[in-house]
Amino acid sequence: MTTPSLRDELAGDLPEFASTMARVIERAILEIDSRPAFPSDPDSATRELDVPLPDEGAGTLAVLERLVDLNRQAGANLGGPRCFHFVIGGSTPAALGADLLATVSETVTYAWVTSPLGVHLEVIALRWLRELFRLPLEWTGVMVTGGTMANFVGLAAGRQWWGEQHGCDIAESGFVGLPALPVLTSGYVHAATLKCLGLLGVGRANVQRITRDGRGRLDLVAFEAALEALGGQPALVVVNAGEVNAGDFDPTAEMIAIARRHNTWVHVDGAFGLFARVSPRVAHLAEGVELADSVAVDGHKWLNVPYDSGYAFVRDRDLMAKAFRYSADYLPESDPERPTMGAIAPESSRRGRSFAVWATLAAYGRDGYRRIVEHCLDLASHLAERAREEPELELLAEVQLNIVAFRFVGEGVAEGDLGPLNERIAMGLLDAGEFMVGTSKLEDRVILRPAFSNWRTRIEDVDAFVEQVLEIGRRG
Ligand SMILES: *Cc1c(COP(=O)(O)O)cnc(C)c1O
Repeated sequence: MTTPSLRDELAGDLPEFASTMARVIERAILEIDSRPAFPSDPDSATRELDVPLPDEGAGTLAVLERLVDLNRQAGANLGGPRCFHFVIGGSTPAALGADLLATVSETVTYAWVTSPLGVHLEVIALRWLRELFRLPLEWTGVMVTGGTMANFVGLAAGRQWWGEQHGCDIAESGFVGLPALPVLTSGYVHAATLKCLGLLGVGRANVQRITRDGRGRLDLVAFEAALEALGGQPALVVVNAGEVNAGDFDPTAEMIAIARRHNTWVHVDGAFGLFARVSPRVAHLAEGVELADSVAVDGHKWLNVPYDSGYAFVRDRDLMAKAFRYSADYLPESDPERPTMGAIAPESSRRGRSFAVWATLAAYGRDGYRRIVEHCLDLASHLAERAREEPELELLAEVQLNIVAFRFVGEGVAEGDLGPLNERIAMGLLDAGEFMVGTSKLEDRVILRPAFSNWRTRIEDVDAFVEQVLEIGRRG
C-alpha cells in the first residue's frame, strides 16, 4: 500500500478540492442577506478559538465549514444590505467572482512578468476609472489597498515635487536641510491624511486647518491669504471631496482654482466623494478635480469591489517612479508596454485587485455605476425625508451625497441627555444585530451617521432602520 502524498492528503484530487470550495463559497454567499449586520455574542465564539496550535490539523473541509459558522457567530456583515457604518460597499457579483478568480489563480500584479493579464487589466481598469470620474486620461493610476494608501501615493508624489522645488530628491536624501513642508487644508481633513503625513515625515502637526466654523468648513478668504503669505514658497494643498460626518465637500472648484494661482501641489481626497462625478445630480460637488495634481479614491466603498481596494491618480508619473523606486539586478525594468506596477506603488508584491475592478466596470459599465450611485443618493434622501417628517428625529445637516447626519430627540428630552441617548441607540442597534451604524459628532452634538454605498440596500431596509431607531430611542 502506498501512503497518500501530501497533495492528496490536504485536498484530495482536484475535482474533490473544487467541490469542497464550491460548497463553502455557496454557503457563504447564501447568507449575504440574512447574516446579522452584527453578531449578538461574538465573544463566546472567539473565546473558543483561544487554544494552542493543534499537533494534528482537523482537515480542510472541517476547518472551512467551521469558519463559515464562526463568521455567522462573530463576524460582522459589512457587505450586507443593512450595514450603514463607516462608508462600506457590498461587492457586485462580477467583482466578487473576479476577486475569487484572482485568488484561485494566485494573481500577482507586481510586474508584467508576474501576470501579463493582471497588469494589463490594472492599466485598462484605471483608465476606465479616469473615464468614469472624468479625470485626464494622460494621468497615471495605481491600485493600492484603500483610501489611506491612495492618499499616501498622492501625498508622496506631492512631497517629491516639493523637494524638487527646493532642489532636492527627498526619496534619495530625505529632508536634511529642508524647511518644514507647509500643508494647507480645511477642518474636513480625514484621519487617514494625517496618518500619511506622519508616515511621510511631513508631520501631522504641520497641517494648517483653515476653517470658518465649528464644523470645519474651509475659510476661502483665509485660505487665499495663507497661500499669499507663503510668498511663492511651495506648499501642499489637500482638498477634501467628501467628509465623513455629513458627506459635505470643501468648495472644490474654488479651492483648486485659488491653489492653482500659487506654487502648490493639489491633492484631492475623494475616497467616496469622487463618485459625485458619476452622477449629473451631484457632479457639481466635485468640480475642478481634473485640475488637481493627484487624486485618491476608494474602491471598497462606492465601487462595491471586495476589500481591499483603492486607487491613486497622479498627473506626473515620473514623481511616482522616484518616490517608489524599486530596483535590483534580478527585478525587471519597467517599460511603457510592460509596466512594473510595483515600482510606482508602495507595495512591491501586490494581489490581483485589477480582476475585480475590471470585471465590475466591464459588467455594469458607466450606466450601471451611475445607477448604483443614484440609488444610494435616493436612499440617503429617503432617510433625510423620514428624519424631517418624524417629530422625534432631527436632521442635522442638509444631505449632500450619501451620508445622513441625524439624531433621535424624542419628546421633550433635554439637550444635555441627547448625546448619551444617541450613543445608547447606536449600541442598542448593534445589540439587536439587524443594522450597523456609527455615531459621530457634528459640532458638539452626537449624531447617527448612516452612509449608503451598498447597491444591495433597499428602501425597505431604510424604513426598517427608522422604525428600529424610534423603537430603541423611545426606550430611552
Ligand atoms: C475611508 C476614507 C479614507 C481612508 O480609506 P481606507 O480605505 O479606510 O484606507 C480616507 N479619506 C476619506 C475621506 C475616507 O472616507
